[in-house]
Amino acid sequence: MASRTVAFLGLGAIGRPMAARLAHATGISLAVWNRTADRAASFGREHGARVASTPADAARGADVVITCFPVSPDVEALLDGTDGLLATMASGTALVDCTSGDPATSRRIAARLAERGIGFLDAPVSGGTSGAEQGTLTVMVGGDAAVLDRVKPVIEAFGKKIVHCGPVGAGDALKSVNNALLAVNVWSTAEGLAALAKAGVRAEVALDVINASSGRSNASMNLFPERVLTRAFPRTFRVALLDKDVGIAAGVAREQKVPSPLIQLTAELFRMAHMELGEEADHVEVAKIIERWAGQEIT
Ligand code: NDP
Repeated sequence: MASRTVAFLGLGAIGRPMAARLAHATGISLAVWNRTADRAASFGREHGARVASTPADAARGADVVITCFPVSPDVEALLDGTDGLLATMASGTALVDCTSGDPATSRRIAARLAERGIGFLDAPVSGGTSGAEQGTLTVMVGGDAAVLDRVKPVIEAFGKKIVHCGPVGAGDALKSVNNALLAVNVWSTAEGLAALAKAGVRAEVALDVINASSGRSNASMNLFPERVLTRAFPRTFRVALLDKDVGIAAGVAREQKVPSPLIQLTAELFRMAHMELGEEADHVEVAKIIERWAGQEIT
């Protein structure tokens, strides 16, 4: 591809390996910024990107700015001021927001950038930190298809399946529903396996059968065997973020006036789990709450 200058803002659990893919892609000159400067410095040492001191320092001169923060308002907060993205990004460039964001805030951001001739795509990702490391993420994109065509070669550094879903906000909406399904599966798998363990069926046996049957899911095929049965519970995706995602899905359903008792209940369950487990716990650790209620470990 023609050479591009890219800025990546937000080197968190998923942002860091995505940015690493860009750092090692041919034809991309990368600048990175992170709120906690040490993390950006260590990224620069490891991957050789330019380490910027502010978001504006990263974005100045960039063809594409990529953001990956917890929530959309974190992105919106970078727009204004003399050092804001609106003042530093040039007309004809694009902001690609890989945050799992909310559609209304994304639409507001897009409208403000459009006034300056800057493109915007909501482009949340799925596939976890391992998918980011391997460059196999699914990227669900909302916004102008012509902007996507322009930036696709950049997204391809970390994305394998890149799908244009509709106007701005469509990517966010789809991502939130995907994660609501993930949440339902994690929660219901934990309940089912705890009940089976109490009834004398070992979790390994139960998963062997379920994974060759119609109840299987990513939770039963990957998350529970790798994280719960091993008791490893690695911290790759915070329950706080899944709480946020299911909350967005619940809002989308309410806004569209679609009866959604299961999604609303799941949002409430994950809000409680987030409060109980705290900010740093992984999403799969909700299984520990169910184990406690059941008085039964999932083994
Ligand atoms: P983390 O909590 O690991 O990292 C968050 C990043 O955002 C850090 O770089 C953090 O900086 C920065 N940050 C937090 N708040 C602010 C702020 N107010 N202003 C500027 N920077 C801020 O999150 P993840 O990387 O896991 O997730 C990022 C997004 O990707 C979320 O929307 C999440 O839902 C989504 N996602 C995550 C996946 C995963 O497997 N982890 C999978 C798919 C999507 P600092 O270092 O200073 O804390």
